[in-house]
Amino acid sequence: MDDQGKKRFFEGLKPKKPSEFLAFVFMIAMLWAIALFELFIVLPIYHDPFSTWYCIHVVCGFFLWLNVFANFFMLITTDTTGKKLGMPSVLKPGWTYCPFCQLNAPPRAHHCQICDECVLKRDHHCVFAGRCVGFRNYRYYMFLALYLWMGAVYANVFHHDYVTDEIGGVGFWTLLTMVTPVVIWLLGYTSVYGIFVSFMAGISVFALLLFSAMLFFQTGIIFKGQTSYERKKKKREYDRGWRRNFIEVFGERWYLAWIWPTVSSPLPGDGTNFKKTYPEESKDM
Ligand SMILES: [Zn+2]
Ligand SMILES: [Zn+2]
Repeated sequence: MDDQGKKRFFEGLKPKKPSEFLAFVFMIAMLWAIALFELFIVLPIYHDPFSTWYCIHVVCGFFLWLNVFANFFMLITTDTTGKKLGMPSVLKPGWTYCPFCQLNAPPRAHHCQICDECVLKRDHHCVFAGRCVGFRNYRYYMFLALYLWMGAVYANVFHHDYVTDEIGGVGFWTLLTMVTPVVIWLLGYTSVYGIFVSFMAGISVFALLLFSAMLFFQTGIIFKGQTSYERKKKKREYDRGWRRNFIEVFGERWYLAWIWPTVSSPLPGDGTNFKKTYPEESKDM
């Protein structure tokens, strides 16, 4: 990377809006808080330190946690624009002129007002990452969502018994303690530690619901070969059958790509050319 490239790279990392910076800090803080809560409070209660099961949980948890951060890092640092490719000065069929970038943009690219650039095969602007999800970083976004979801399932199942022992079984009061811990504490129904445990339990349940919805929604979009934008417009002109659609996102080596974000899995094309579905083309279902 030359000096100009480095400068652009660090410029790109800067949060674009204060609200996005807050969302980013909140997410990182919660990831740490939940990991430390499971590791230092819940785990030693169930298993003796350095016993076989203790080590298995540490390794599994650490794998999920590292993958979350690595995919998050790649999501933020991957260039999603066509700047390096050099956009043609002549408007090709299917391309559009972007008045903001003053460049011709390929099909499926859209301009993001927050990022202030045209993003190849733009899906949406992610508030937590503070940047757009598009052709080159879609894979990282999806694996981030997957590992977050797996982590949330893991945490909820893992601390379930401990939490119910601390704040009571699943019922009206537990739910109320999770939603409004301070009110319950003021009423004298729980201790400060109870509030803390309720908060951790509450945020884990909330995270599970959020990530489940995210994963479900995005998987549906990929399945149909769409982007969020095309889904809104009810366009399915790039649907090439679900297998091909998944390769378009996860690359040719999708079966290895999940292990770690730097595992190479080349994407078909460069993000400016997309094969359309024609009525006569049979889909490989
Ligand atoms: Zn633009
Ligand atoms: Zn954006």
